[in-house]
Amino acid sequence: MMCKHQLSSLKSFFASGPFIFACEKCGAKVYREHPKAALPWNVLVIDRIGILFLALVFLLFESLPIATAAFFFISFLLYLIDLKTEPLKCVNLKEERKSQNQGMFVLVMVVVVLIAGLGAYLWQP
Ligand SMILES: [Zn+2]
Repeated sequence: MMCKHQLSSLKSFFASGPFIFACEKCGAKVYREHPKAALPWNVLVIDRIGILFLALVFLLFESLPIATAAFFFISFLLYLIDLKTEPLKCVNLKEERKSQNQGMFVLVMVVVVLIAGLGAYLWQP
């Protein structure tokens, strides 16, 4: 019998690569992929060493706080779309590692972008 997996709304909201929860019906560890929300973050480091990211920070420095806010807003919208469109998936070990890595990568990027945006905001008179 296939379980369609169910989480409380709060857990369902946070379920993603780094945040895996147990299904309330079957107890299996489940998570949700967020390919659309991860997309803009992956584009930021598409060259893998962050030159594009640094160039953007440099070019947009004057309006970095606004650019950061806009970027987070877009990511949040994409995250909400993923919530609607992506099913809860049962974790298998290989995918878990991969998904967690990508999730952690995005979390680190979130912190870096947040610091850059905040730094630029505080820097300006
Ligand atoms: Zn289940």
